[in-house]
Amino acid sequence: MVLFDVVIIGAGPAGLFAAQQAGKQGMSVIVLEKQAEPGKKLLLTGSGQCNFTNQRPLPEFVNCYGEHGRFLKTALYNFTNNDSIRFFQDLGIKSITVPENQKVFPKSKQAKDILNGLLRACQLSHVQIQYQQAVKAIQRTASGIFELSCAAKTFQGKYVILAAGGMSYPATGSNGDGYRLAQALGHTLTPLKPGLAPFAIKNFSLASLAGSSFKNLAITLWQGDKKAKTLKHDLVITHQGISGPVVHHLARYANPGDKLTLDFMAQKNPEQSRNRWLADMNHNGKAQTATWLRRFSPTQALGDKILELSQVSPHERLAQLSKTKRLELLAWLQAFPMEIQRIGNFEIAMVTCGGVAWHEVNAKTMESRVVPGMYLAGEVLDIDGDTGGYDLQACWSTAALAAKHIGKRRQAG
Ligand SMILES: Cc1cc2nc3c(=O)[nH]c(=O)nc-3n(C[C@H](O)[C@H](O)[C@H](O)COP(=O)(O)OP(=O)(O)OC[C@H]3O[C@@H](n4cnc5c(N)ncnc54)[C@H](O)[C@@H]3O)c2cc1C
Repeated sequence: MVLFDVVIIGAGPAGLFAAQQAGKQGMSVIVLEKQAEPGKKLLLTGSGQCNFTNQRPLPEFVNCYGEHGRFLKTALYNFTNNDSIRFFQDLGIKSITVPENQKVFPKSKQAKDILNGLLRACQLSHVQIQYQQAVKAIQRTASGIFELSCAAKTFQGKYVILAAGGMSYPATGSNGDGYRLAQALGHTLTPLKPGLAPFAIKNFSLASLAGSSFKNLAITLWQGDKKAKTLKHDLVITHQGISGPVVHHLARYANPGDKLTLDFMAQKNPEQSRNRWLADMNHNGKAQTATWLRRFSPTQALGDKILELSQVSPHERLAQLSKTKRLELLAWLQAFPMEIQRIGNFEIAMVTCGGVAWHEVNAKTMESRVVPGMYLAGEVLDIDGDTGGYDLQACWSTAALAAKHIGKRRQAG
């Protein structure tokens, strides 16, 4: 049996990136992939266009991974967003940046170019890739060698990189095997739930507005009576609830049963705005409620829906409305209440929140603190980024750090 320097589990972005980085340092590397092809999820990224990183300043990056962003700091600074752009550029893959959100894509807007680039880099670094090899178990022999068992073969390595992904979009191959393999070796997992996913809303009253989108709306998440988080971004109404970047980003903090309030106006000072609008209502007593609401509501359909929900006739004059009713109308606009029934599911979530507990992994090397010699990279870690290229950047950065540290260990003998 051949003894490889490094055996990598998973030919997704993290696994392939780690493989070529290790191969480049002269190590013998094999990637074991359970699917018949590499990078199935990578090909779906950015709607097939692959938003592979983001060009916002690096110090702002750590805030895009929720509370666990700090864990990624060393990895992100060791291999930065600009390093990713340069890496693909050196492979002949030019990139473009979208000015309003700093998302970076290959100029061709083809995810397959990124995948082919990674495969080319692997080839140049003499990396072997074996397909249809699902790793079932990892064992460590008395001499410290790792043995990875697949259905018909066993592979041996001095180091292992676990890059088997999370459990969203399981048809792509990442169905939670990475978590099970880590757990079998003694790792603990933080609770797993769908991330970057839409919310189904209990007794959803805006279903007739499905397809409408709202720019820069503010959502507040309530846990019990406590304001847990307020985020501002774009929102889309679906048949069952709400979606879009603001919802996706909130998913990592939210749970079924939590309450939300949507501020469609998202004014800097809601209290002040409410008083201004009340004064405006007083001045426009003769105006019909529907006409007045149309001036303030981001869409007419929303304004009409609010009238329906507050049981106010569209033709009613503002002067005829009691103060309580006026406040109620403004409350629908500024704090539209909802309750989360469900947060997507793993079939449609873009990432998994939770994973191998980050305190069990050395953030400076990506080496497991539980299994020395085993490294972790990519989504198998308890890390999930906002939309915008942050998840793939986490893959490149964690993979680069793992490969770099293995190289150092090997050199040190
Ligand atoms: C629809 C969609 C769009 C997305 N768009 C973006 C985007 O534009 N930008 C962005 O930054 N992120 C995006 N993401 C997230 C991003 O794709 C993931 O974070 C990323 O693919 C994770 O990479 P990974 O290598 O850790 O895992 P994966 O890509 O899941 O790869 C893991 C690999 O391991 C293999 N594997 C699993 N178990 C075993 C086993 N037992 N033995 C052998 N092999 C195994 C799997 O088959 C798979 O090939 C998107 C995700 C989805 C679903």
